[in-house]
Amino acid sequence: MNRIPPFDLSEQYKLIGAEMNAAALEVLASGRYIGGSWVADFESQFAEYIGTSECIACNSGTDALYLALRALGIGSGDEVITTPFTFVATAEVISAVGATPVFVDIDLATFNLNLDQVEAAITGHTRAVIPVHLFGLPVNMTRLMAIAQTHNLLIIEDCAQSTGAEWEGQKVGSIGHIGCFSFYPTKNLGACGDGGAITTSDPALAERLRRLRDHGRQGAYYYEELGVNSRLDAVQAAILQIKLRHLDQWNQQRRDVADRYQHLLSPIPNITRPQEMAGGKSVWNQYTIRVTGERDAGTARDRVRSQLQERGVASMVYYPLPLHLQPAYRDLGYQIGQLPLAEQASQQVLSLPMFPEITLEQQEQVAYSLKDCLA
Ligand SMILES: *Cc1c(COP(=O)(O)O)cnc(C)c1O
Repeated sequence: MNRIPPFDLSEQYKLIGAEMNAAALEVLASGRYIGGSWVADFESQFAEYIGTSECIACNSGTDALYLALRALGIGSGDEVITTPFTFVATAEVISAVGATPVFVDIDLATFNLNLDQVEAAITGHTRAVIPVHLFGLPVNMTRLMAIAQTHNLLIIEDCAQSTGAEWEGQKVGSIGHIGCFSFYPTKNLGACGDGGAITTSDPALAERLRRLRDHGRQGAYYYEELGVNSRLDAVQAAILQIKLRHLDQWNQQRRDVADRYQHLLSPIPNITRPQEMAGGKSVWNQYTIRVTGERDAGTARDRVRSQLQERGVASMVYYPLPLHLQPAYRDLGYQIGQLPLAEQASQQVLSLPMFPEITLEQQEQVAYSLKDCLA
């Protein structure tokens, strides 16, 4: 039996490993490990790729989101609307700056924020919305920017899972006021360690972000305000420059893989396949189905997951408990049943193996195994 992992970075290393090794060694030999031209060059290449005038590299996607909120002056007394169906970092940073996350429900078809509910949740304290383009599927940014304009809100795009995705021909991360990216190794553009970036076309905001990532420093050892230490290493910047040149091809391969799954899984009963919205171009960081059709959703999904595992197919559950029901957010007072679609998604989702180099044979094995489990 062939084992199929949820993702596999080894094929990528076979393709560009020699180039990555050479770049890393060049940085080591240079003696210049923090800042310098590798980071500056990557920043300008990434800004050009996303379609913004500015890019500020930092240490992680989490830091990118945190710095974005800080630079926009969001803090105590402010509310930030976001989705409960995301990685914890999206909401964690809202709490970290002293603001309050306001969770609203999602659309089951896209797993993304329900924009009617975003509008309904706006109060006099709302300063910003953090839409997450989850699993690589873009949020309807045309509609969200219209809502933002009407209510004078800031939009911080969480693009951690969607580097290269587009909404109506524009790259995500270039549509809101700020875009936040993660280069965690399993993201579409992954470093060999932690990394992140912030994109914006507002030069004043960019300047403040550059200060905040470097302790708030303004000139030599002079601080008008305090920031954090969040820089991208030169080694990671050198590696990311190489990988950025391949990103469009890898994203296209992911799109081909998703198309094949859509086709191979279409005859299988009791599952719902993910939907790309008209206007959106997904980069499929994950290909996530829902196991439906049984009354106890969580049990059915977990049964399918372990039966797939027995057949050598590794799958993942992103995310098993929505953020509004996490113990860490108990103080916010959300109840079970309050955001029913996010809760339903948490019980039904199953992410299938997804990486650019997955073969047709491997995908067929996933599909046959899934059919077996659901027969
Ligand atoms: C990965 C991820 C982050 C955090 O990125 P890190 O680089 O791991 O800090 C934030 N939001 C979402 C949706 C993510 O998937």
